[in-house]
Amino acid sequence: MISRDPRDGTTHEHLSRNVVLATGHVPYVLESFQKHVGERVFHASEFLPRMTALRENLGRAPRFAIIGAGQTAGEIILYLAGEHPNAQIHSLVRHGGFKMYELGHFSNEAYLPAETDYFYGLESEARERALARARATNYSAVDPDVSTALYQAAYQDRLSGTNRLHMHRRVEVTDLAVAESGVRLTTCEVYTEEAGAIEADAVILCTGYTEPQFPTALEPFAPHLSHDADGLLNVTRGYRAENSDRCTVGIYLDGMTEWRHGIASATSFSQMATKADTVHRDLQATIARQQQGASAAFAV
Ligand SMILES: Cc1cc2nc3c(=O)[nH]c(=O)nc-3n(C[C@H](O)[C@H](O)[C@H](O)COP(=O)(O)OP(=O)(O)OC[C@H]3O[C@@H](n4cnc5c(N)ncnc54)[C@H](O)[C@@H]3O)c2cc1C
Repeated sequence: MISRDPRDGTTHEHLSRNVVLATGHVPYVLESFQKHVGERVFHASEFLPRMTALRENLGRAPRFAIIGAGQTAGEIILYLAGEHPNAQIHSLVRHGGFKMYELGHFSNEAYLPAETDYFYGLESEARERALARARATNYSAVDPDVSTALYQAAYQDRLSGTNRLHMHRRVEVTDLAVAESGVRLTTCEVYTEEAGAIEADAVILCTGYTEPQFPTALEPFAPHLSHDADGLLNVTRGYRAENSDRCTVGIYLDGMTEWRHGIASATSFSQMATKADTVHRDLQATIARQQQGASAAFAV
């Protein structure tokens, strides 16, 4: 494994018989927006540094457009409303408004280790359905505090006649045009298809994160890794990517197998400790098997 120290650019080589890859999910930006990402259009994962860099160019009454309806979008709207009392803030969401997470006690059992065993045992089509159902507990929604705060802020805004918080519901952003003075967003009402336009100084893409189906760091191992009928990596319950006999390196995928281990294994802290324990036990068992194999071969 080769690593680069970002502080001084030096590279280092590491030799290991086992690797645990935990490089996380990657910010998702709609393909048609990717060419616009920069000073005025950016993903929420870059929010603070981009906002700091833009500060000089914002003026006294900046205009912000926030695309998305998840927790990040909600928190950023509230933050901007507090930090920039004169700002015009446009929230653009595709459905009827901010939804709340499914936070019932029983729904949240999706994050217990036993549910991972259940999910792992399902056939792939059933797993997809189960995951789609579980997504309501953690994605594209907000918690009760943020929902209440947003609604109160929008209500106060209307009541006081300030009209600086614009909650655009059932609206899809179809195009962006970036100029030196700002960004023009072209919109389309989801059901009536009425076209619209919004001008903003900054557009914050709160469009979530995606799980890489094949982490780039694994490229050199590609010929040795096995895939299932759907072309996805075969990964054991112990998070070990199955590889051919010609490659004895143990490769563990931690936090990158939501499609295989379920919602608790990726974008949640819930199973950090149990995942580490599972990997550790699997590693111990594998090493013990390898040592037994070696001593048996030696005996022969
Ligand atoms: C805004 C936000 C709020 C959240 N709030 C909660 C919450 O309240 N509760 C909860 O349970 N979960 C929450 N989550 C989810 C939680 O953050 C993730 O589940 C958790 O961080 C996943 O941990 P991880 O270690 O698998 O991946 P990550 O935390 O994504 O860490 C991956 C790391 O790998 C590094 N990396 C990537 N590629 C390389 C490379 N090639 N070389 C070296 N390093 C690399 C990255 O820089 C990063 O440091 C939140 C997520 C977000 C985005």
